[in-house]
Amino acid sequence: MRNIVIVGSGCAGNTAAIYAARANLQPLVVGGHEPGGQLSLTTLVENFPGFPEGIDGPELVQNIRKQAEKFGAEFMHGSLVEADLSKRPFRLNIDGDWVETRTVIIASGASARWLGLPSEQKLIGHGVSSCATCDGFFYRGKKIMVVGGGDSAMEEAIFLTRFGSEVTIVHRRDEFRASRIMLDRARQNPKVKWITSAEPVEVFDTEQGFVTGVRLRSTKDGHTWEQEVDGFFLAIGHVPNTSAFKGQIELDADGYILSKGGARTSVKGVFHAGDAQDRTYRQAITAAGAGCMAAIEAERFLEAEGH
Ligand code: NAP
Repeated sequence: MRNIVIVGSGCAGNTAAIYAARANLQPLVVGGHEPGGQLSLTTLVENFPGFPEGIDGPELVQNIRKQAEKFGAEFMHGSLVEADLSKRPFRLNIDGDWVETRTVIIASGASARWLGLPSEQKLIGHGVSSCATCDGFFYRGKKIMVVGGGDSAMEEAIFLTRFGSEVTIVHRRDEFRASRIMLDRARQNPKVKWITSAEPVEVFDTEQGFVTGVRLRSTKDGHTWEQEVDGFFLAIGHVPNTSAFKGQIELDADGYILSKGGARTSVKGVFHAGDAQDRTYRQAITAAGAGCMAAIEAERFLEAEGH
């Protein structure tokens, strides 16, 4: 029987692990399908307090893990397949093995969103990608397209200019959601080209099995045209990784956990931390703060229950 199982090993989960471990609760952290979370897929993080020169995302999240391990947190590989939160102790199925626990911290984060076009889905890994840092290297001297108008799209496009001959940002509106500083950086980069008020409707070429181009449609007048590209990167936001909790705790229409105040969910003893609940801030530092809150709440809950 575990005191605390933390589902997810990103910034939120690992920070919860530090606090829970320092409270002597020997937390178990389930790594998930993307160990280290979104930070493990990013490059330089410039806005995490305490690092005036910035720090690489994978190093940051690894450091938080080491800090948790130092105090006795246990990390395991594997993903949650099923959860039974209907009664206590809660039961979690991790890759086929059931674990019993008095409390759960859901820090399962969010994953990249796809457009959902059949051609896009067929070409994932063959020119279609949602991770510039993972796949940018393959597009040296090639034409790259990045879809999206938020900070991620700017960040990915700027990063991809290290490799591509040109990087075209395609955005469905002519106003950008991205912050001023990121937008300006992209605008100042001579390799970045812009197509606004347009959306991809088909990715070519599923017959050849790799990306050769994209058909775009104007969101203003509906006309379509084709554009040659070798790499097609999506940066259109994220969906929360909460499907294993559907029907067990209250989620909103998009699958984000509904908070009941603090780090509490609709089930007593189950707490939330990070992007699985937070659709507003979604920063490494807010996720870390949420992990801290969840661990403190879990600790108080256990104490009140006499454990
Ligand atoms: P986001 O801010 O939600 O932006 C998603 C973008 O994708 C929006 O421009 C949206 O268009 C577009 N989009 C969504 N669905 C689409 C679809 N089906 N077809 C075409 N376009 C679609 O997501 P994000 O850029 O991943 O950023 C998430 C959070 O992380 C933000 O808070 C951001 O500030 C933060 N972040 C910060 C940094 C940094 O500071 N270095 C870097 C990355 C992310 P609309 O605008 O029309 O809705």
